[in-house]
Amino acid sequence: MALQWINGRIARKHVWYDGLFTLFIDCPGVTPFACGQFLQVGMPLEDKHLHRPYSVASPHADTLEFFIVRVDDGELTPRLWNMRDGDPIDVSMKATGGFTLDHTPAAECIWLLGTGTGLAPYIAMLRDKKIWETYKKIVVVHGVRYPTDLAYTEELESYARTHAGRFKTIPVVSRAQHSSGLSGRITSAIETGALEEMAGEPLSPENSAVMMCGNPQMLDDVEAMLNARGMRKHKRSEAGHYVVERYW
Ligand SMILES: Cc1cc2nc3c(=O)[nH]c(=O)nc-3n(C[C@H](O)[C@H](O)[C@H](O)COP(=O)(O)OP(=O)(O)OC[C@H]3O[C@@H](n4cnc5c(N)ncnc54)[C@H](O)[C@@H]3O)c2cc1C
Repeated sequence: MALQWINGRIARKHVWYDGLFTLFIDCPGVTPFACGQFLQVGMPLEDKHLHRPYSVASPHADTLEFFIVRVDDGELTPRLWNMRDGDPIDVSMKATGGFTLDHTPAAECIWLLGTGTGLAPYIAMLRDKKIWETYKKIVVVHGVRYPTDLAYTEELESYARTHAGRFKTIPVVSRAQHSSGLSGRITSAIETGALEEMAGEPLSPENSAVMMCGNPQMLDDVEAMLNARGMRKHKRSEAGHYVVERYW
C-alpha cells in the first residue's frame, strides 16, 4: 500500500557531534503510535520519493524527534544532515514496527541495549510512563566507538538521579577509555561479567527481559550469548526473553 505523507518542517536540528544529530520535525497529523515504533522520513527527489525508516525518539506529539547518524556514502542521511530550520520534510502518517513494550516479555529488570542511534527507541520509551509502570529495574546500555558518539547523556543521568536504585545508564565505549562507563564492546562486557557488575543486576532468564537495537553484528553476537544463557527470542506464539530491532 502506498505510504501517506505528512508535509512536515524542520523545527530544529541539535548537533551532538559532527554527523550525529537529532532532527525535531513539526508534523502534526501523524497517527498516534507506540513508543519504539518507526516512521519513514524523506523527500521527493527527481522522479522518486527518497525515504528511510527511523525510530521515533520521542512519544507521540505534534513535533517528533529523530536521532540520526550521517552515513557518508548514504543516499538520504547527508541530505538530512544539511537540512535547516523551516525546511520541508515528509514524515509517513502511520508508524509501524513491533519493537514496543507490548511485544516485550514481563520481568523484574529490563535491559535496553543499543549501539549508536539504536538508543532512539529507548529515549521515547523512557519519556513515557509505561516502562516505569511495567519494570521494577531498568538498565540502559549504550555502545559507541568514541565518547563523542554518546548522546542524550544528561537526560539518562537525570533518570538515574530521579529513579535512584531503579535505573542505571552504562555507556560502553569501544575505541577509547571511558571514566564513568565501560571500555570495550557490549559483547565483551557481557562475557567478562563487567556489565552485570556495573548494573548490579544479573542478566538471566529468571530476572531479565532484553531489548536490543542497532548494529547487526552486535545483535547477532548478543543473541548468541543470550541463547547460551538459556534465553530465547520472545515470540507472540511462545514467551521468551529478548526482542530485536535491526537497523540494517
Ligand atoms: C526499523 C529501522 C529503524 C531505524 N531507525 C534509525 C534511527 O533511529 N536512526 C538512524 O540513524 N538510522 C535508523 N535506521 C537506519 C536508516 O533507515 C537508514 O538505513 C540510514 O539512515 C542510512 O540511510 P542512507 O540513505 O543515508 O544510507 P543508504 O544509502 O540507505 O545506505 C545504507 C547503509 O548505511 C549503513 N547504515 C545504515 N544505518 C546506519 C547507522 N545507524 N549507523 C551506521 N551505518 C548505518 C549500512 O551499511 C547500510 O547498509 C533505521 C532502520 C530501520 C530498519
